[in-house]
Amino acid sequence: MGSFKLGKMTLGGLFKKPETTLYPIEKKTPPPGLKGHVVNHIDDCILCGICMRRCPTGALTVDRAEDIWSIDRFHCIQCYSCVRECPRHCLSMEPEYHFPSEKKFVSAYRVPPRKKPTPATKPAAPAAEKKEDPKPEEFQAEKPSEA
Ligand code: SF4
Ligand code: SF4
Repeated sequence: MGSFKLGKMTLGGLFKKPETTLYPIEKKTPPPGLKGHVVNHIDDCILCGICMRRCPTGALTVDRAEDIWSIDRFHCIQCYSCVRECPRHCLSMEPEYHFPSEKKFVSAYRVPPRKKPTPATKPAAPAAEKKEDPKPEEFQAEKPSEA
């Protein structure tokens, strides 16, 4: 009886649509509640480094010298701490599957340069009167004349 059931299931499996999807060729609809992956809206990031300090797995790096914010997605456990703690609210979790990869990599993003506040403009000092260089003939006139 048991082998009959098993045979029926095996035969049925040959003609049924596969249970798995051919991701990424086939797009998979994320189920409700999927945490997804961290996204930084990089234009608003001020490279303060709070997210890096709060990340329990060390997945985030903030390089202020190079203006780079980076994330090692292979170390991220989607705990949401960085999103919650970011003072600029530029981090969010996008409920999508990340593109698969054969190798581990770190995603790095360059923060665009910010506009510096322009200093208050002082009234321009009056331009000093420009003295013209003496003409060559004037030097010649000062030479003692030969008798
Ligand atoms: S906490 Fe927010 S603003 Fe600060 S470095 Fe991280 S992403 Fe950028
Ligand atoms: S979600 Fe958690 S583990 Fe992932 S980068 Fe943010 S703080 Fe780190």
